[in-house]
Amino acid sequence: MSSITSCKYALLTDSCRAQPARIACESFSVKSLGLMKRVHVRVIVSTLLIAVSFVPLRLSAQTSSPVAPRRELVESVVKEAYEKFRNESKGNNADYIPYLAQVDSKLFGIAIVTTDNQALTLGDVNYSFSIQSISKVFTLALAMEELGPDKTFERIGSEPTGRAFNSVPAVVDMPTHTGNPLVNAGAIATTSLISGKDADEKWNKILNFYSKVAGEKLTLIDEVYKSEAATNTGNKALSMLLAKYDRIYADPFESVDIYTKQCSVGVNASQLARMGATLANNGVNPATGEQVIKREDVPYILATMTMAGLYDSSGSWAWHVGLPAKSGVGGGIVAIAPGKGAIAVFAPPLDEAGNSVKAQEVIDYVAQKLNYNLYSPSSVGLK
Ligand code: GLN
Repeated sequence: MSSITSCKYALLTDSCRAQPARIACESFSVKSLGLMKRVHVRVIVSTLLIAVSFVPLRLSAQTSSPVAPRRELVESVVKEAYEKFRNESKGNNADYIPYLAQVDSKLFGIAIVTTDNQALTLGDVNYSFSIQSISKVFTLALAMEELGPDKTFERIGSEPTGRAFNSVPAVVDMPTHTGNPLVNAGAIATTSLISGKDADEKWNKILNFYSKVAGEKLTLIDEVYKSEAATNTGNKALSMLLAKYDRIYADPFESVDIYTKQCSVGVNASQLARMGATLANNGVNPATGEQVIKREDVPYILATMTMAGLYDSSGSWAWHVGLPAKSGVGGGIVAIAPGKGAIAVFAPPLDEAGNSVKAQEVIDYVAQKLNYNLYSPSSVGLK
């Protein structure tokens, strides 16, 4: 792994740890529309043997994806990426949330779900990690569902901060104070927009919405929630600052608590890829066929992800990769290839901007090989 490649998204931390090839165990279950049968596949992969599972589902029922990628190509590219980056050792687990510091830093899973509901998974795709900041995308979708894009834009904004995701100075300096829905301040304000008679109703609404986007029931990882709730003084400070500027729309500490819960929702790489594929598929979950995000909201969400999905590395990410994506300090990143599908990668060690090192490398590699860069006219077939 050349240092040029591994440093191109952001400055990386110095510490490197050897990451031996590991045993991967994967399992996935997929629901087909109108088909109550569940299919379970378990594959045990040894350190020497890598298995890729790729399941085409209800291909004939799918009409919305003339551009979904070819199976053989994706399969070989993902295998290559897994091999190429499995021993990458740069980065460190997030440690400002104590739970995250002790997650096995060698975990590594890749999942792709296409808009015609083909699923390809490799590595630790069964491990449930906290969604963290990736949740911000889906709370934004829910806020837009309730308020519409214009009001959401007016109350939160959509400008890059050029600062760390939890920056206090950004709140003071930005004319909107909230910045955008994908930094902590803007995300807490977005959570505060969700309606409900009390905190429980708001939280359940958010969790149910995420579950519909994933196409299966998601749950809170209680240990993550407790760990973060015990240490989130910075987010509480952001919420109070927002209150000073009148840019938070419910009780500040209640909003931080709901936000902390949404960040503690557990997802595995397969579920995260399906959430991404729902965005890639105009808001229709490709596994359940349900329209869960409004079609007209999707471009706003993807634009916001392009602009701020990887925080202050977003410009560099757009330059190199050209796909809307969102990272979380739990080690997940999901990237969207509109109309085609989504790739989710989970690997806990992060760079200094808070983005998974391996996930960035894998997505960059796969996106280049599959010609996914949104800004390249050849990505839509122009020769
Ligand atoms: N829950 C985390 C926080 O508020 C989310 C940050 C992230 O994933 N970048 O700090």
